[in-house]
Amino acid sequence: MSLFENFVYKNGEIVDNSWIEWNHESVPNKPKEIRDLIRYILSLTGHCLTCTAIDGCYFIKSNMPPHKLHKNCDCYLTKVKSADVKTSAFAECDLRKFTEYIFTDSKKSKGKLAIFESLGYNKNDSNILKEEYEKQALNEYLSGNYTLKDLDKNGQRLAIAISLKGKRFFTGWMIEPEGKIRATTPFGGWVNDWFYYN
Ligand SMILES: [Zn+2]
Repeated sequence: MSLFENFVYKNGEIVDNSWIEWNHESVPNKPKEIRDLIRYILSLTGHCLTCTAIDGCYFIKSNMPPHKLHKNCDCYLTKVKSADVKTSAFAECDLRKFTEYIFTDSKKSKGKLAIFESLGYNKNDSNILKEEYEKQALNEYLSGNYTLKDLDKNGQRLAIAISLKGKRFFTGWMIEPEGKIRATTPFGGWVNDWFYYN
């Protein structure tokens, strides 16, 4: 194991690409019901729900929320081997993001229907889209190619760029414990060419 193996060039900078797990005492990674209950109980004794929301989540060290998150934050970071992250990570995109949101009427999809139709997709492609989203987003997440968006008591949201038919756009995801990412927004705007290539 080389001392420098976790350091890589990214956008002209040397960054630390090793993985960390964000931890908060007493919060189990699963099952979700118990985790949420314990988080609630902890919040009654003054523990921050935003902190406990990201307990157990894996981030690339060069791309993680600021540690500490606030004064008296008692979160701590532990190292995770990237091989372990790769083994346990997975992306989940609910099929209904397409069948019950994108491919409904244009009003309900807030104009997204027209975008997907212009790319040549219809409701029958929902499964293909789900699988493509999961595959691409997982790859990008594992490469550290995500942008940290809002962080609150529900968790840390990520923007991840994916490509379909040569067009590149942002999708929204929620990060969950042990390397899981869950799709929240199937279309979050086109990736501006300048932004992407520079
Ligand atoms: Zn904290």
